[in-house]
Amino acid sequence: SSPKVNAGSGADLVLTGISKHFADFTAVQELDLVIPSGTFIALLGPSGCGKTTTLRMIAGLEAPTSGTISIGGEDVTRLPSHKRPVNTVFQSYALFPHMSILENVAFGLKQRKDKDAMAKAKAGLEMVELAHLANRKPAQLSGGQQQRVALARALVNRPRVLLLDEPLGALDMKLRRQMQVELKKIQMDVGLTFIHVTHDQEEAMTMADVVAVMNQGRIEQMGSPRELYELPRTAFVANFLGKSNLMEGTVVADAGPAIVVDVAGQRLELLKERAVTTEGKIVVGVRPEKMRIAELDRTDFQHAGNQLVGTVTDASFTGVSTEYLVDVPGVGVVGTFTQNLGQDPARPGDQVRMSWEPEYTFGLGANEDL
Ligand code: ATP
Repeated sequence: SSPKVNAGSGADLVLTGISKHFADFTAVQELDLVIPSGTFIALLGPSGCGKTTTLRMIAGLEAPTSGTISIGGEDVTRLPSHKRPVNTVFQSYALFPHMSILENVAFGLKQRKDKDAMAKAKAGLEMVELAHLANRKPAQLSGGQQQRVALARALVNRPRVLLLDEPLGALDMKLRRQMQVELKKIQMDVGLTFIHVTHDQEEAMTMADVVAVMNQGRIEQMGSPRELYELPRTAFVANFLGKSNLMEGTVVADAGPAIVVDVAGQRLELLKERAVTTEGKIVVGVRPEKMRIAELDRTDFQHAGNQLVGTVTDASFTGVSTEYLVDVPGVGVVGTFTQNLGQDPARPGDQVRMSWEPEYTFGLGANEDL
């Protein structure tokens, strides 16, 4: 088993009202973030949303225009980068080519005259399972191995918080998936707080305990991968993490724990606790795989919960499932997946009924950009 580099107790990271302006451009806006010790958090969002700028402010490589940053209870807002208890792993590994990987990992420790530099470097390489290659030069390692050396080099400095800026971005897809699993395992072993910047939603969902979805310099929503997927609170989150059907409607009745929404003449129900608003205009959402689809004239079909009727415009067989696009009058095109059970329930041109349970439905604000 791996040695613990840092017990990390109480190593909370707290950002309070952090903003960053570049001239008249606002890259990060009034960000508030509290990260408990030992959390693997992913900052997820499209290019330009402010992820890297946020990470660089935590690292001390960029000064916030306003707000404060504290790490482990200490206000570090004005501390220079090298005095902060953080380390960053970048996409480019920046290993010294003429040194062995052991020397690479020991380098920072030796600079600081750490007498145990070599022993700590060896322990670091053991942690990333590269001790057997300690005497090789970086060029003699694969991309994934070099990335692990960079990780070991950061971990031996005993940061309270490890920052990862798209660290797997340069790796091919297969290696990337493999490293995601390994990185997560190392994080659990060392128990450190990891802050991982990525624009890859699958990567964020697989690795992180908590995902903060960023858009235009703000955190749109933060939660466990499952929470974000099951209950997105904005159209941006609903569309950025997987596929969603979003339909505009109006609340027409109160049914106790639920509300009834009119969507183009069809009545859909959803739970109040899953709706951002419970009156007036609303956007009703449902994930495609939560819906069942059946021919309209099927009599043995159990009509449960919410239903929409339309005409199939496209059916794509993907192996595991078939994806249907269904044109619903007054609503538009609705997508639904059906698990492949060897029989296609519908073909283009067929009239179909889609149905799903109210508890899989979510409600968003009507001012959302669909
Ligand atoms: P990516 O995934 O492409 O790296 P990101 O979410 O990490 O994107 P940032 O690098 O944080 O985005 O940049 C946020 C915004 O701030 C971008 O519009 C970028 O052009 C702008 N920006 C970043 N650094 C500077 C700078 N030094 N001067 C001016 N604008 C900047």
